[in-house]
Amino acid sequence: MARFDEFLEANRQYAASFEAGDVPAPPARKVAVVTCMDARLHPEKFLGLEAGDAHVIRNAGGRISEDAIRSLVISERLLGTEEIVVIHHTDCGMLTFRNEDLTEKIKQDLGVDTTGRDFLPFSNLEQSVRDDVQALRDSDLIPDDITISGAIYDVKSGVLREVVRS
Ligand SMILES: [Zn+2]
Repeated sequence: MARFDEFLEANRQYAASFEAGDVPAPPARKVAVVTCMDARLHPEKFLGLEAGDAHVIRNAGGRISEDAIRSLVISERLLGTEEIVVIHHTDCGMLTFRNEDLTEKIKQDLGVDTTGRDFLPFSNLEQSVRDDVQALRDSDLIPDDITISGAIYDVKSGVLREVVRS
C-alpha cells in the first residue's frame, strides 16, 4: 500500500470532524514563517498556530531562496502579512554537506552536471539565520516596515531561541 493510500484513509477521518471551512485565506495573525522541511519540525505546534493564522513556507534549511522570496511577496502584497520569522534548527541536514559533495553525488547517481548550482547548505547555524534575515532586509521586494526576526529551534528540547530582530 502506497503512503498515499494511508493519507487518503487518514483524511477520511480528518474530514469527518472538519470545522475550519469558513476560515479566511488572509492569515489572521498577519505573519509568514520560513522554516526547514525537516520532518521533526511541526511549526504549527511549536508556534501555537491554528488553521488560518499564518503562512508557513518550508524548504531545505528554511533558506531565503528566490522561491521563498516569491512566496513572501505574494504573502505580503496579496494576503496582507506584515511580519516574517525565519526559523532554522539544530541538527539540520544542511550543516552536513557542501555544494561540491552534492554536485558529485548527483553526477554519480543521475549523470547530471550541477556544477555552479547553490543548494544553500551552511556551516554555521546562527550565522545562517543572520544571513537570511539580512537577505530579507537587503531585498527591494521586502519593504522596511516589515518586521523580521530570526530564531533557532532545538530539535532535542523543542525550545525556540531568538537570534536576531530586524
Ligand atoms: Zn533542516
